Amino acid sequence: MTSTDGMAGNSDDAVAAAPSSPTTDGPEHAAHRATGNAGVPDAAATATGTCARCATTTRQLTSTTRVPGMSAAASALWVRPRGKGLCPPCAWMYRSADTRRTPHLVTRWPDSVTAIDPTDLFHVLSSPVSYSTAVLLPDDDGHDVLPYARWGHVSAPGVAVAWNGRDAEMFAAVGRLRRRGFSGSFLGDPTPPLAVFDTLPMREWERTYADWAWVERWRLGLPQWKIALRATTHVTTRVPGTSSREL
Ligand SMILES: [Zn+2]
Repeated sequence: MTSTDGMAGNSDDAVAAAPSSPTTDGPEHAAHRATGNAGVPDAAATATGTCARCATTTRQLTSTTRVPGMSAAASALWVRPRGKGLCPPCAWMYRSADTRRTPHLVTRWPDSVTAIDPTDLFHVLSSPVSYSTAVLLPDDDGHDVLPYARWGHVSAPGVAVAWNGRDAEMFAAVGRLRRRGFSGSFLGDPTPPLAVFDTLPMREWERTYADWAWVERWRLGLPQWKIALRATTHVTTRVPGTSSREL
């Protein structure tokens, strides 16, 4: 798992992170409480013990052999990787399919977990993500996201990125470039491709170059860049002389 430290100006300093949420304060616990499933224990979870993932002591420990979908990479992040069982929220997390399919927003104070559409996701990522919010962005393959969730971060399978003001500005710039007609494949180029640039009115040229320069540092394989491209695929562009289309 990788993470950025969340400090402005350090977005390109991806570093190895500690286990995603080793306490009961993590987004997965808040999501579990919000679903109301905290009071619906696994019928076979009758053992008392310590959760291998988050170290919570519980009387409803579910054997790890009964929890499908856990990967070796995910369990390597647990507080006790060789532990024998998981607490109810952690066991639920690996069984929950919704967050693997659709972007979600998790909050605390109060606890909530909400599926969000592409428009809401764009709105959320256009601002810094607060420390009472976690954003979940699944991939097309349905891999786990919730085990990587952290407050103040945008999480995708295997990664959590602190989303600060500079990330939000970069994201907004990617959205503006999408609207001007630059698809995801174009956005990886070092300069704006003329095939699209020439379609723009002159009044947009300076801003386009400025946005292009602004996103330059994020193109270097950083998770923020991949998240921005994925979360802007719905942005509608209007090419002069044509109708609006989805990219
Ligand atoms: Zn746990």
